[in-house]
Amino acid sequence: MRIVLVGPPGAGKGTQATRLAKELGIPHISTGDLFRANISQQTELGKLAKSYMDAGNLVPDEVTIAMAKDRMEQPDAEGGFLLDGFPRNVKQAEALDELLDSEDIKLDAVLDLEVPEEEVVKRIAGRRICRNDSSHVFHVSYSPAKKQGVCDVCGGELYQRDDDSEDTVRKRLEVYHSQTEPIIDYYKAQGLVQTIPAMGAVDEVTRRSLDALKREDGK
Ligand code: ADP
Ligand code: AMP
Repeated sequence: MRIVLVGPPGAGKGTQATRLAKELGIPHISTGDLFRANISQQTELGKLAKSYMDAGNLVPDEVTIAMAKDRMEQPDAEGGFLLDGFPRNVKQAEALDELLDSEDIKLDAVLDLEVPEEEVVKRIAGRRICRNDSSHVFHVSYSPAKKQGVCDVCGGELYQRDDDSEDTVRKRLEVYHSQTEPIIDYYKAQGLVQTIPAMGAVDEVTRRSLDALKREDGK
């Protein structure tokens, strides 16, 4: 399957994407994780991306689209993929459609994770991620690591993202409403959107997502 996950920062996209990708046997492609890997490897792309990310802005489309395209063209993504955090504006959604059209393939579903803003703020404030791999995600109270400050998956150090500070989060939410939310209408026009209530336990949200994908598959 080819799936896009949308939702505000802190909605639980990364958390769900890891589980759904495992369940469906497709790679989880997160542009945020790809940028953070570039930042830790101190690449030119990482240096460029960091200045935008720290300000809560989107990284320019040209570099983001090129990076996402390159990742989607890796052999493991041939049979499907789950996109998390891409596309993030209508221009990126159009670029994705062009790429898929050129290969005569289609998206199967767009899952829109719905969470009230006050919950998103709490989820982000307590989020801790792993230095080794930013897809290893914890929360100080909702899903704490077994040993404080240490990643359960790989033993790496847990830290708070620079862009999870209160001011930057406010800016990221603004950017979400103005630039990312319009892609929901873009995909609604293609009949692809499934709205997933994303409050409640992580397992419950995964179950709702898998049920929605089954309905989509049966169409
Ligand atoms: P996103 O990728 O949408 O920014 P994350 O998956 O990183 O969001 O989740 C944000 C924070 O919320 C993380 O600390 C994560 O552990 C926590 N979280 C995710 N899903 C839930 C949930 N259903 N209930 C409580 N906390 C959650
Ligand atoms: P995320 O890990 O999805 O919360 O993304 C963290 C940050 O990376 C965002 O606030 C943006 O600065 C940048 N980013 C991630 N994905 C994209 C994208 N598709 N387009 C532009 N910027 C992105």
